[in-house]
Amino acid sequence: MQPTQLIKVALPIPLKQTFDYQLSEKELEKATLGARVKVPFGNRQLIGLIVELSPRPSIDITRIKPIIELIDESPVMPEHLILLLRWASKYYQASLGEALFSALPPPFRHGKALKQEKYRKWQLNTPDVTAENLNVHLSQIRKNAEKQKELLTTLSQSSDGIYEQSLRSMGFKLQQLKTLKQKKLITDNNVIPEIEAYKRRDSDDSDQLLLNDEQKQAVQSAISGEHCFQAYLLKGITGSGKTEVYLEIIEHFLVQGYQALVLVPEINLTPQTLLRFQARLPDAKLVVHHSGMNNSERLEAWHFCQTHRASVLIGTRSAVFYPFKKLGCIIIDEEHDTSYKQQDGFRYHARDIAVKRAKEHNCPVILGSATPSLESYINAREKKYKLLTLNERPGSIQLPQVELIDIQTRPLQAGLARPTIKSIESHLKNGHQVLVFLNRRGFAPTLTCTECGWIAKCNHCDARLTYHNKGHVLRCHHCNYQTSAPNHCQDCHQSTLKLLGQGTQQTEAFLEQTYPDTPLFRIDRDSVSGKHQMETLYHQILAEDAALLVGTQMLAKGHHFPKVTLVVVVAADDGLFSADFRAEEKFSQLLIQVSGRAGRAQQPGQVIIQTRHSHHAILQAISRLDYDHIATTLAHERELMTLPPFSAITNIRGEGKNESDTFTLLQNIAEKITTGLDTKQQRLVGGGSISGPLPSLLPRKADRYRFYLTLKTPTKPQMQKWLSSIQTILADFTPNPQIRISLDIDPVEI
Ligand code: ADP
Ligand code: ZN
Ligand code: ZN
Repeated sequence: MQPTQLIKVALPIPLKQTFDYQLSEKELEKATLGARVKVPFGNRQLIGLIVELSPRPSIDITRIKPIIELIDESPVMPEHLILLLRWASKYYQASLGEALFSALPPPFRHGKALKQEKYRKWQLNTPDVTAENLNVHLSQIRKNAEKQKELLTTLSQSSDGIYEQSLRSMGFKLQQLKTLKQKKLITDNNVIPEIEAYKRRDSDDSDQLLLNDEQKQAVQSAISGEHCFQAYLLKGITGSGKTEVYLEIIEHFLVQGYQALVLVPEINLTPQTLLRFQARLPDAKLVVHHSGMNNSERLEAWHFCQTHRASVLIGTRSAVFYPFKKLGCIIIDEEHDTSYKQQDGFRYHARDIAVKRAKEHNCPVILGSATPSLESYINAREKKYKLLTLNERPGSIQLPQVELIDIQTRPLQAGLARPTIKSIESHLKNGHQVLVFLNRRGFAPTLTCTECGWIAKCNHCDARLTYHNKGHVLRCHHCNYQTSAPNHCQDCHQSTLKLLGQGTQQTEAFLEQTYPDTPLFRIDRDSVSGKHQMETLYHQILAEDAALLVGTQMLAKGHHFPKVTLVVVVAADDGLFSADFRAEEKFSQLLIQVSGRAGRAQQPGQVIIQTRHSHHAILQAISRLDYDHIATTLAHERELMTLPPFSAITNIRGEGKNESDTFTLLQNIAEKITTGLDTKQQRLVGGGSISGPLPSLLPRKADRYRFYLTLKTPTKPQMQKWLSSIQTILADFTPNPQIRISLDIDPVEI
């Protein structure tokens, strides 16, 4: 066997290495890097990706098995992406195969071949489509072949061909196409043409806004470094026109014939966002990527980006792994959003991957937010990122006035203080809309016994069950356990049950009773499921004057409700005090984002934040919408405590059915690592430290006990170095099938 007949294949399994396989002469001609193969693995058959051609064999050459099948003749993943994922899998301590396969669209993971025919166009086989030529063609087929004649006539009506898909939907059969092709009467051209450079529309076009000076400066700066890597932090207050800045930058690159990648948090990928992109870039081919897409949509989006048949991809987290032919810029909207971090499996951070990707493509990456993550904030302060700022809302639109109402001693009605209710009333009276924001966690109504204090809890998690009016059920929001609500206390058996806590449902009921003539819209995950429903709701809300909008996190961002003039945060404090060192950062980001929903059009906005800690420095700063102050303060604290971004941390997570076994295993791992530290101290410059095991924020979830260890080093490279020896230590522990150990690099949750 020739070594040229060998390939290295990455398989979607946790084992870190890649595997050698053998090709036949014939397969050798067709095999390319990034193509898929079906291979034998133990007694299974697996789909793998070719990551190296003609490698040096890593095992005895006689033991190398042949592949079963070469699936693709062209790469489903380009080389640059394989390189990126190779880096990412190393950084996040995942296997290359797992990383590659979590990036591929699901149908590709299962060995489905890409149907090129879908994009195939058919046309008459003549230099000119004229009536005369058509007649010559028609004369060459049998008299009674009516369908074939019809097909030729249909094709004669288009000079650049018709998609096979369209022809089939007109009722033509593949066989008819094949017959005519054999007779050389028609030809197929395989694919949709590549996108040509975008043509800028006239600037007096109605959908294009005139940028203000701050916006122009931001755009100028971001495009000045074209074709070389630079990260920018676009720090712009809510409603300052960041999206307009993105659009202008994107257009610049499209005009040069490049593609753009736009990452948005799940919650922001709304029809509104898309319409806005479409309206501003009417001639650009946009594709989207999100979790709700079906398989063929995913394949098409992937294929279109890879072959430059699409010029803009707007997508959530995993869109960062799409292949591009000519990537010109990357935009990360709401870059502070924690949904950019994948929380299980291949745990990567899309923001960090995007920055790495921009480096590989030599292109700018723009991270935008009104409330940047401390990581990006510090990067900008240290001049690693260029800072672009938007401090004003365009036009004469003012930032809202924020008022803190201390509810420590005030009587409350359905969670609302007297002055709050008064304000709601006056805004509604003026024909404006009021947004009432309830934090899900603190507000979920739970069932409790007034006699003995029993509380309905999940049998599988350390969490309370939430009561839902609809269906009279109790549900666990962590594991989806559901049960019908009991009528008697499960402990003392008396019928003394009461709903505790202010659910969206109670506040809704109160507001409905108090303002029976005002339309009320409830917006949360229970009431708004599909995207279309949100769109319908959005248009209904736009059509109203005075209205009440009641909801949770879903209302915090992404949506632009121009008629909202008052935002009420019913109880701000949930989430302010927590073991998570990022709690204050997340808390401030959420409240400032929610506040930003008020007064986004001509009417001035007002925000009321009800809190029990109105003197807390963070709440004071939030009331001034002074995120800079918050970020500087938090950065200072983190620096003192050497917490990220002033250090690197990794969590070793353990999850198991048995609480003490799980804890003990982590304890043993910690001990082993600590002994390693003593002997190899000199290798860890500045020293690494380990703490824990500690219980996770939710200590039991779906019947699994969860603990974690935290590793800390002064820098990320030091952490990377340490992790490779930690992997050896972990490998020494006999695997316990009951306990799952995983590494979470740069975690954002505990
Ligand atoms: P952000 O993304 O910073 O929250 P948006 O881009 O959504 O802000 O802009 C907020 C509002 O201001 C939108 O309605 C937008 O159309 C409008 N806007 C943005 N830039 C301008 C401008 N230069 N002139 C007029 N209106 C603008
Ligand atoms: Zn549960
Ligand atoms: Zn009871």
